[in-house]
Amino acid sequence: MKFVADVMLGKLARFLRMMGQDVLYFEKAEDNFLIYVAKESNRVLLTRDTRLWKDAVSAKAKSLLLRSNYVKEQVKEVFEATKIKPVRARNCPSCNGALKKKAKYEIEGLVPEFVWNRNSDFWMCERCGKIYWSGSHIRNFVKFLGFNPWDDHERRPE
Ligand SMILES: [Zn+2]
Repeated sequence: MKFVADVMLGKLARFLRMMGQDVLYFEKAEDNFLIYVAKESNRVLLTRDTRLWKDAVSAKAKSLLLRSNYVKEQVKEVFEATKIKPVRARNCPSCNGALKKKAKYEIEGLVPEFVWNRNSDFWMCERCGKIYWSGSHIRNFVKFLGFNPWDDHERRPE
């Protein structure tokens, strides 16, 4: 299942990408455009806007109306409604490009030395070149959510 997020849901889009979901997000987009994208690319339109949700449904696009204002509740709503299991990111949280696992030596000099010394798992975005590692940002994310979305069904990459 793939998603397209309403303009007001940028944070949710990033969070879902961190949990392995393919989410399109546009900072500016007309409602009709979002409905068009949802239909054409077979994505579920995520929105908090009742009117947009109704328009999407009547245009026969898939859409999920979110109730909460809080991103961590929205994350739960999406996973409950879709029954999707969160996984570790396969898409870049910034640009939705594909993440590719990199060997430690390939990353040397591209991240701060203390990061390179302390971590062994690195991923690079094939689109924007950003580098990710399982470090404090993952721990902070889990802390923020109040639960570990990967706990039950995913082992940490070795
Ligand atoms: Zn990227």
